[in-house]
Amino acid sequence: MVATLFIDGTWRQASDGGAHDVHSPHDQRVVATVSQATNTDVLDAVAAARASFDSGVFTSWTFKERSALVAKIADLLERDADLVARKESDDTGKRFIEAQYDIADVIATFRHFANLGAKERERSVDVGLAHVTSRIVHEPLGVASLIGPWNYPLLQIAWKVAPALVAGCSFIVKPSELTPQSAVALMKIIEEAGTPKGVANLILGPGSVVGTPLINDPRVDLVSFTGGLTTGQTIMTAAAKTIKKLALELGGKNPHIIFADADLDAAIDNAVTAAFLHSGQVCSAGTRLLVERSIHDRVVNEIVRRAGQIRLGGPDDVMAETGPLISAAHLRNVTEYVEKGIAEGATLLVGGKRSEALEHENGWYFLPTVLDNCVTTMNCVQEESFGPVMTVEVFDTEAQAIALGNDTVFGLSGGVWSSDSEKAARVAGALRHGTIWVNDFGPYRPQAEWGGYKQSGIGRELGEHGLGEYLEIKHIWTNNSPSRSGWFSDPAQGESQ
Ligand code: NDP
Repeated sequence: MVATLFIDGTWRQASDGGAHDVHSPHDQRVVATVSQATNTDVLDAVAAARASFDSGVFTSWTFKERSALVAKIADLLERDADLVARKESDDTGKRFIEAQYDIADVIATFRHFANLGAKERERSVDVGLAHVTSRIVHEPLGVASLIGPWNYPLLQIAWKVAPALVAGCSFIVKPSELTPQSAVALMKIIEEAGTPKGVANLILGPGSVVGTPLINDPRVDLVSFTGGLTTGQTIMTAAAKTIKKLALELGGKNPHIIFADADLDAAIDNAVTAAFLHSGQVCSAGTRLLVERSIHDRVVNEIVRRAGQIRLGGPDDVMAETGPLISAAHLRNVTEYVEKGIAEGATLLVGGKRSEALEHENGWYFLPTVLDNCVTTMNCVQEESFGPVMTVEVFDTEAQAIALGNDTVFGLSGGVWSSDSEKAARVAGALRHGTIWVNDFGPYRPQAEWGGYKQSGIGRELGEHGLGEYLEIKHIWTNNSPSRSGWFSDPAQGESQ
């Protein structure tokens, strides 16, 4: 019996006993078997979340009390960090050490929101009347469906769960069916920390099946989703029927701009990391290189040399530098994306296919790939591959670099390399993306907001706004010296004002 659904404070198997195997992307071995929820299970989870919210069992806690709970969850995660990292590494195929970094980020996320929640939130407004007290208070938004992707499974869920708990929401977590194990581990910790029954619920199963009721159900007030653009569009359409609040973290096609006056050694090294870290399965990956024409050959030759040397390998390969793609289907998508790019006129300089190494034969390994001679109109420049594929375009002027950097429906992140700080600041200001790195690429901190312009999403995670997504704002006007309004005439009282 597999009982990995957590509903109303109880670990349950699926109502029809359904379960599914999770396979390692490294060698296809079964790393876990988890329950696969039915529609009935999802509705039970929504009912439990709604009932716990409406009962006041958690909303009655103060922000400080809920922050203490979130701090305790961070402590317990720290205790179990390696166990959780192992599960994450098994599911995603990423190196164990990378999973350890991710869990450290998860813990930092819980600590950030615990600190933020302990701050005073209420404010008063001067309405210009001595007898009136006017207060702005923040209240938990309600029941939230929290849906996460497979690339950083626990981290993306943590960005939602930690603020939802601090805010006092009740919620249903749904990780990707490809990477469920770390969410199960987190839910056990949330239970151990003393979260009231029904507040935190976990549903497992394919998004197209168990995701739908999480969006459609009128008892859900908010959907916070991280994933692809197409799924985001489906969710937005469905959520319109019940005017749900939405927080969407979608894809990115992120420009990485290198000017000729940059520190090229650092820029090239960062460009390699930005595009090929986690085999490009990063929403903010710098997969769209924009390079000033005069340095094109030098930069691209060096990136190609470095890309060809990247060592691929599984979770425990200590020589490996990055791992496999998540699934056979994703490997097919990335292969087709590259083939299409070549057919459109891009020049393949390195990679472009599945690894043929014997030790990779059972895994979904794709070689780091560089496509040169790209132009903005190409599909490979506009669409996200979510694989280790860098496209290269050239520019001649600052204005052209900005125009190219903004010529995308996405707006998640971008990078600018230049030793001219004023130029770099101008370009950073002109790029319409949620995060811009100057002479760097990739770092983030939970204290700073994360999210997208344009079709990269709606709202922000992390920072202060990341908590705001889970709060309603209420204005309470109290007249301490009540009197008649006197707006309409009342003959019994004489003339109105
Ligand atoms: P998907 O959109 O395929 O899936 C994301 C989540 O949504 C999964 O849990 C999935 O479940 C679920 N889902 C799928 N269909 C539905 C549906 N109809 N209703 C409700 N839920 C559904 O994205 P991926 O998992 O493939 O993740 C990759 C994408 O995520 C990339 O585009 C990437 O850019 C983006 N991303 C964005 C980030 C950001 O911060 N902006 C961060 C990380 C990723 P299941 O997998 O079980 O089918």
